[in-house]
Amino acid sequence: MTYVITETCIGHVDRSCVRECPVDCIYEGEQQLFINPHECIDCGACEVACPYEAISYESELAEEHAGAMERQELVFAELGRLGGARRYGPLPPRHGGTSEHAETRGLPKGNES
Ligand code: SF4
Ligand code: SF4
Repeated sequence: MTYVITETCIGHVDRSCVRECPVDCIYEGEQQLFINPHECIDCGACEVACPYEAISYESELAEEHAGAMERQELVFAELGRLGGARRYGPLPPRHGGTSEHAETRGLPKGNES
């Protein structure tokens, strides 16, 4: 079980959640942020900080947001642990991110192929 960011985040990327995450595991996608389930410690700080109620615990996810968990799992299935969002930067394009991802900027990246 872990926390998940739903599509409610789209258009509201204010990063209030990022500022509260003690392990820096909330990563930047093209349209929304994503929690890395391999790094999240389930503290709940991001859920409280989000002014748009875009973050839920997996087991409390509303039915209309059921796809959010699958999207999160898909984003990080190959990437795994990335060592922190500030250091890593935006996610790669085919993992929900943009062309501004780590590889482009010459920084350490995950094990994407
Ligand atoms: S539950 Fe805690 S560790 Fe997990 S993403 Fe939210 S703030 Fe970060
Ligand atoms: S605080 Fe909520 S709406 Fe804002 S970026 Fe984080 S998840 Fe998205």
